[in-house]
Amino acid sequence: MVAKTALEAVTEYLVTKQLGARTEVVRALYDYFVNNASPSDIAGRYGIGKHQVRGYVQRIMEKCDGNLARARAIIRRVAPLVLELEPVMVPANDGELYRCKICNQKVPAYVADKHVAYYHRPLIELYTDRIVSTIIEQVSSKHAKRAG
Ligand SMILES: [Zn+2]
Repeated sequence: MVAKTALEAVTEYLVTKQLGARTEVVRALYDYFVNNASPSDIAGRYGIGKHQVRGYVQRIMEKCDGNLARARAIIRRVAPLVLELEPVMVPANDGELYRCKICNQKVPAYVADKHVAYYHRPLIELYTDRIVSTIIEQVSSKHAKRAG
């Protein structure tokens, strides 16, 4: 198996959160890495724990081998494209549950992204590949323009 690049690994992580209706995680990471917001501001803004915010940041840093500049560059390009994706998990009518639009299974909100990761991995891979190629194209056409 070929090791994933940081771009692929971060994109896959964000796509999984977005499809799993954890949009606030994608926004929180954008605020942290691109807007330099503090974990406590972010926690207040999205109603998530400060330690959770640090946990999400940590996951991204691991995927970028601890390179903050790389994490920033990737999140800045990837997050806006990921936020355009429509979540697969939608709130169900009966209380705290989320319903999967693909298989109709209902699960608690906190495992909605895990449901997508476990049962619908091909969809995550499809969107990840699509976003990664879009970004590689954007970056290479920018370089071509500079050279020409
Ligand atoms: Zn499903």
